[in-house]
Amino acid sequence: MFDPEELHEKLTRADPGYYTIDVCRDIARKLDRIAELKIERNAVLLAHNYQRPEIFEVADFTGDSLGLSLQAGEVTEADVIIFCGVHFMAETSKVVSPACKVILPNLQAGCSLADMADADDVAERIDELREQYPDLGVVCYVNTTAAVKAMCDACCTSANAVDVIRSMPNETILYLPDKNMAAYAAKRIPEKKIIPWEGYCYVHHEIEPGEIIRVKNANPGMKVLVHPECRDDVIKLADAALSTSGMIEYAKQSDFDRFLAVTECGLSDLLRIQVPNKQFFRACKICRFMKMITLDNVLDSLEKLQPEITLPEDVRVGAEKAIRRMFELTSPDLIPAALKTAV
Ligand code: SF4
Repeated sequence: MFDPEELHEKLTRADPGYYTIDVCRDIARKLDRIAELKIERNAVLLAHNYQRPEIFEVADFTGDSLGLSLQAGEVTEADVIIFCGVHFMAETSKVVSPACKVILPNLQAGCSLADMADADDVAERIDELREQYPDLGVVCYVNTTAAVKAMCDACCTSANAVDVIRSMPNETILYLPDKNMAAYAAKRIPEKKIIPWEGYCYVHHEIEPGEIIRVKNANPGMKVLVHPECRDDVIKLADAALSTSGMIEYAKQSDFDRFLAVTECGLSDLLRIQVPNKQFFRACKICRFMKMITLDNVLDSLEKLQPEITLPEDVRVGAEKAIRRMFELTSPDLIPAALKTAV
């Protein structure tokens, strides 16, 4: 049973204005019902680090794209995965855990970055570039549809993009869809020619260096952690450029006690809940897609086991190949159980 008082104490660390005791009573009631339904449905709930704080309370696993892919690939006992994140992430869960029914509680939760790389356009561009660069390798960020992943040689996440590109045997790489991450990788791997796709995450792209400098000047001595989807002029101001789970680990391990997490605002909320003895400042933006899933959506999806994410088998197998290659290139010991047994 969830205790409204405890929830109130915890969730006000993320947003003191919103999580009043009355709101927390309502949240506790819904969380209790979700917990019951999870058992009845033999379901696990995976939540991305940018979700609403109340979703973290009922999640079996919280993580970034890499962590969630790993976790979905290890889900062998459950019948259902409730995926609290955005559409391409739920697709990735289906790719690595095909035997499970994968549910995305709100189908409107898409991703404008993933939508910037349309599968037909990607196919055309690959053909065009292969004529010019016969040794072209194609690396796609996990923030792509399964149909696009199926056309790539390897997938990557923000945590391992540089390692994946560096490990590819090809000298010329088409990297898609995030041009900021392509620039970030190109700086660190000057020996390769990295051709960017012209996409960007509107959340990270809109963060201005001036915002960081203002918070930094007002709070000297804090560490600035920046997501690699940010622009180069923002990354230059960082003490470290990290994935969201990398930021959490960094904040937990560091001897410093004050940080600025420059990414989607949900990460600052999560840090304030998970690392209560340290201070986190904000220079963040809200992703409207990541905040679309509510507890009501989760309840409804567990009742009805809908909306379900399905994929044509050829697309699923192609995307699985790109994801498996990512692990083979960078961390073969981490290959999830489901991908080890795949043929
Ligand atoms: S934060 Fe950016 S990349 Fe992530 S879901 Fe939102 S729009 Fe897509």
